[in-house]
Amino acid sequence: MPFDLQRAQQDTPATANLIHFNNAGSSLMPQPVLEATIAHLQLEAQIGGYEAADRAHNAIEHTYDAAATLIGCQRDEIAIIENATRAWDMAFYSIPFKPGDRILTSIAEYASNYIAYLQIAQKTGASVEAIPNDPYGQLSIDALRKSIDERVKLIAITHVPTNGGLVNPVAEVGKVAREANILYLVDACQSVGQMPIDVNKIGCDFLSATGRKYLRGPRGTGFLYVRSSVIEQLEPPFLDLHAAHWIESDRYEIRSDARRFENWETNYAGKIGLGVAIDYALEWGLETTWRRIKNLAYLLRTRLSTLPGVIVHDRGITQCGIVTFTVEDKRPEEIQQQLAQQNINVTISERSSTLLDMDERKLTTLVRASVHYFNSEEEIEQFCTVLSRLI
Ligand SMILES: *Cc1c(COP(=O)(O)O)cnc(C)c1O
Repeated sequence: MPFDLQRAQQDTPATANLIHFNNAGSSLMPQPVLEATIAHLQLEAQIGGYEAADRAHNAIEHTYDAAATLIGCQRDEIAIIENATRAWDMAFYSIPFKPGDRILTSIAEYASNYIAYLQIAQKTGASVEAIPNDPYGQLSIDALRKSIDERVKLIAITHVPTNGGLVNPVAEVGKVAREANILYLVDACQSVGQMPIDVNKIGCDFLSATGRKYLRGPRGTGFLYVRSSVIEQLEPPFLDLHAAHWIESDRYEIRSDARRFENWETNYAGKIGLGVAIDYALEWGLETTWRRIKNLAYLLRTRLSTLPGVIVHDRGITQCGIVTFTVEDKRPEEIQQQLAQQNINVTISERSSTLLDMDERKLTTLVRASVHYFNSEEEIEQFCTVLSRLI
């Protein structure tokens, strides 16, 4: 069955006059997501915020079921959190590190995660080490196996980095983590919504995701998965009256489900919109949209590499919807601005967002064009035509 591009574009009206290749930054919300989010804000204005939350109770709770279905877990293993970074933080900062503990991570690691490793290393005397890549540019499973010893407290890696098409072998990493019984945290910010994700196949204890990127949800939404068997072993770095119950003047009890990682006040309209976005993604089918994303990205890379002076930089065996390139004698910022004048959205990836990887490849700034299933082959042709005029 051919992909129903017409329907995807009808649900995304901006595609009529915008080429949006910034889906790894913030994608375009489909109409049902936009409508559900706005409707809840209107209800809040009409009847009051608490009253609106009561009335929308089922829709709000549904978001947990939707997220659980999306990644193959139970609803009580999901915490809805305002973004992927804070979701990831709530997991990471719950782990009690002590001097000598080792954290193993990836070269492609996201800046916010690495800054957290450095902070914890300075505070606790734990150490952080990035596992080298294999010749394809993905995390080397051999090198990981050789690094395992009884001091490794955590394996924490980025599935898909912010700065390229790489897809790290998270399930192979998971096998190593399970064999050695080591906590395993996956930053799946760019992969959730882009490709099928199953936490049991990955074998992770934690997985963090955001709403606004490939899931096409509202901004300021995200979620955290925590495996049920580790929830009660971990004390969140912050507790409030939602995460815990105050029982007596000197005693509290922490919730037993993953909501111990949440906090009380939240953007309910966003939470509802996130649930609708996940339902919408599931309706298309992640296998179907993932295949299309890979095909579009392949087409874009192939067309780009024929343009004079253009170098495509993506690495890895499987390559996803994030396409990065440089153009000889042109600053990436300049390209971004000139494309923007033609109603084409791309963004740039800076060294400081994925410093280990950029330094290893001697790169400073890349143009990032990230495609989604609602983009079209025609848009890719138009993109390359405009770009070739610029260079
Ligand atoms: C965008 C991104 C994040 C941060 O997500 P937020 O929702 O902005 O907190 C984390 N990791 C990776 C790999 C990202 O691309």
